[in-house]
Amino acid sequence: MKILIVGAGPTGLTAAIELARRGLLAKVIDRRDNASTLSRAVGITSRSLELLSHSGVSETLIEEGVPIRGACIYQRERLALELPLHSNRIYFPTILGLPQDRTEAIMANTLGSMGVEVGYQNELQDLREESKGVVALLSSGVEERFDLIIGADGIHSKVREAAGINYLGFDLEEKWSIADVDTEGWPSREKFTLVRSSSGTVAVAVPIGKDRHRLVASCDNAIDAFPMGLKVCKIHREGTFKISIRQAERYSKGRVHLAGDAAHCHSPIGGRGMNLGIADAAELAKRVVERRLSGYSELRHREDKKIIEITERVRKIVTGRSIKARLEFRAFLAVASSLPVVRRKLGQFVVEF
Ligand SMILES: Cc1cc2nc3c(=O)[nH]c(=O)nc-3n(C[C@H](O)[C@H](O)[C@H](O)COP(=O)(O)OP(=O)(O)OC[C@H]3O[C@@H](n4cnc5c(N)ncnc54)[C@H](O)[C@@H]3O)c2cc1C
Repeated sequence: MKILIVGAGPTGLTAAIELARRGLLAKVIDRRDNASTLSRAVGITSRSLELLSHSGVSETLIEEGVPIRGACIYQRERLALELPLHSNRIYFPTILGLPQDRTEAIMANTLGSMGVEVGYQNELQDLREESKGVVALLSSGVEERFDLIIGADGIHSKVREAAGINYLGFDLEEKWSIADVDTEGWPSREKFTLVRSSSGTVAVAVPIGKDRHRLVASCDNAIDAFPMGLKVCKIHREGTFKISIRQAERYSKGRVHLAGDAAHCHSPIGGRGMNLGIADAAELAKRVVERRLSGYSELRHREDKKIIEITERVRKIVTGRSIKARLEFRAFLAVASSLPVVRRKLGQFVVEF
């Protein structure tokens, strides 16, 4: 079977690895000049590690990553709740912190050892379905026919557009900021930190290396959003971004199948974007090999929708500025901090979700 994977982000790489592991070597293209250096997603879930363990990728991810042992939630500068992040019912007991560019590099390495190299500087410009296959028009000037195309080409997916699949949802108005920094004396190394300020700004810090943190905040400057004073020694990268909440109306059309951000996007609050893409890709690859593609769209659309809905509920509670949202957040902190069993269950839910 001749397969084209458009996009060599975590989704496209997972699809390629999971196909290669089963003996199908796909053609993988990406319009970038070379591998990404963007450290967007920093939390790898146990489910993703389990899916990637069959190819050996997880072993290296775990060697390099930081296990996130707990979560600290602050109301302004006051520590209001501390949760253990742990479950012994899953493959890896907690969330693993690692910048996305390292995750992708480790995946690409494994893929290379399986005999597939990513073809960079090659962009899908269009596609058309014919009775005998789907023809891709590539920027290299070549028209090539495939039995199947996997669109793992991100939020602005050309595959999705060319296949005429709607991406339903909405875009949020507010601007968010992000920074990757070296820190000194950070009180909670190996812990995820969430701070909600009196104005309703939310800031999150995730450990991604020794004395290195990813900061994300619902305002223009992620570093200034931490009221308890954060000693930053070096800024590796900073910037702003906007959030969309969208899902493709269907993931499959004819010989074209979508996965990852091409199929869905949501707020980074739950840290699930990349992980959903990995799950889509692993399921899709399995079904391609088993020639059981008909249920892929329904299954993954349903699973992803559930996570998007939960993430949206959490986003509204955590970032909501209304009196109702503030009261809900306060009530949640009061209940969770007074009951150890709630803290334990909540920590378990976060790592298993
Ligand atoms: C600031 C920020 C923080 C985030 N934090 C988290 C987090 O903590 N946890 C988490 O799970 N997720 C997080 N995410 C989301 C996560 O980064 C994405 O969900 C993930 O990158 C999606 O992977 P993907 O492979 O589907 O798409 P992408 O990573 O976008 O990869 C798509 C690839 O397709 C290529 N491409 C596009 N069009 C074409 C074309 N026509 N031809 C050829 N190639 C093409 C692109 O060059 C790109 O390399 C975050 C995102 C942002 C922006």
